[in-house]
Amino acid sequence: MNTALVRTRMAPSPTGEIHVGSMATLLKNYAFAKKYGGLFILRIEDTDQERKIPGAVERLLATVAAYGLSWDEGPDCGGQYGPYTQSERLELYQEHAQKLIAEHKAYRCFCSKERLESVRDAQRLQKTAPKYDKHCRSLTQEDLSKKLDAHESFVVRLAVPENQEVAFTDVLRGKITFNSSEVDDQVLIKSDGFPTYHLAVVVDDHLMKISHIMRGEEWISSTPKHILLYQAFGWNPPIYAHIPIFLNPDGKGKMSKRKGTVSAQFFLDQGYLPEALLNFFMILGWSRKDQREIMTLSEYIAEFEPKDLSAKSVVFDLQKLDWINGMYIRALPLEKLEKLLEPFIPPDFPREILSAVLPLISERLVKLSDFAELTKFFYIMETPSTELVTKKASSDTVLKQLTDTIAALTKIKNWSTEELTTTVRSLQETAGWSKKQYFMMLRVACTGKAITPPLFETITILGKEITLDRLLKMQIMLT
Ligand code: GLU
Repeated sequence: MNTALVRTRMAPSPTGEIHVGSMATLLKNYAFAKKYGGLFILRIEDTDQERKIPGAVERLLATVAAYGLSWDEGPDCGGQYGPYTQSERLELYQEHAQKLIAEHKAYRCFCSKERLESVRDAQRLQKTAPKYDKHCRSLTQEDLSKKLDAHESFVVRLAVPENQEVAFTDVLRGKITFNSSEVDDQVLIKSDGFPTYHLAVVVDDHLMKISHIMRGEEWISSTPKHILLYQAFGWNPPIYAHIPIFLNPDGKGKMSKRKGTVSAQFFLDQGYLPEALLNFFMILGWSRKDQREIMTLSEYIAEFEPKDLSAKSVVFDLQKLDWINGMYIRALPLEKLEKLLEPFIPPDFPREILSAVLPLISERLVKLSDFAELTKFFYIMETPSTELVTKKASSDTVLKQLTDTIAALTKIKNWSTEELTTTVRSLQETAGWSKKQYFMMLRVACTGKAITPPLFETITILGKEITLDRLLKMQIMLT
């Protein structure tokens, strides 16, 4: 692959939140540029004014930055080939369309909606692909002047050449050949003077000197249109790699909102670490000799090659993501973890126990938002199940265990893990109670849960008062 002057780009439309699939594609464009000492460009494609959502651009930029990625040229920081927002480049698209019209490579089309619909209806009846019938391509100069003088509204269409073999190479799929007759005389400029995506993307990618385009495979059907446009302008197209889309976590269908969340920001909001998410995006669909699954961004930049990407869709494997996130959380120093957890700490959580609780739960945090659920029992007692407590022993035995434990714990002066461990262990051994049954009973009675961090550390943090109170309550529940 020619990598002399690598300039890659991501060109999101501000029509909503950035999708995790787009973020994964963005990462690839970013990494590829960095690998070859090139530049990564962020461009806002907002030519579809009706679908534009206020504030979406700002949110988009903020999300990309929150993932720890940056752009060398973009709408906020500018660059050599700006502006980087398409709605600020309208004149450029007009100029380019005019040039094509002057060279008879594009033409004005005055067809009404009704006419276009009737053409489409006829095609539907004949079961042929919907295409413009090129009616205005052969307007006489006289007809044209008349319509222009009458200020009739028009769009500009590309005059697609007839019956030409055209080809482009996709890095993942090899050479793709098509016949130009299959391609519609696509609209380049809409009647409101705005360019279509096709014109704007080609003009911008060319003017911004984009060398490689990695984009979602949903755009592959547009690529022939783009190639024909490059031909019309007499420009060389960039190198394309169309990246397969993610499948839903259940493996069925393309990842969509209906089956759960798809917003890149939402994953951050749930407490997935940006580094973990990027790591997950790196390994999804990337086949390489080394099967290492945890890697840093700089390792990825050094090793990533688009040709090693799978051309098949991959499942957005949430279990894998959870595993990776857990690995990253456990690699964090506790002070850092404490800082990151800040937005996830419920307001009623007793702050004074935070530093004692953290080492106990960090092993079990899959994502930062799990903090609330994992620590709730420290300050809110959910009614424990008496069934669970008496599952492996009779109520009488459990009542005796509770009475003896309360007595033993009441005597403890120095409420520490060591003291608690010695006291409770010796009680259990002397009485000859089943270790498994007794400790489970104690765990459930003190926390309301069957699974908690290590028991004695947990009871130490709960404190004498709360522990005794909870044991007494259990006693009452059983009598
Ligand atoms: N504006 C398109 C999008 O929203 C860009 C497609 C492309 O990369 O060419 O994804």
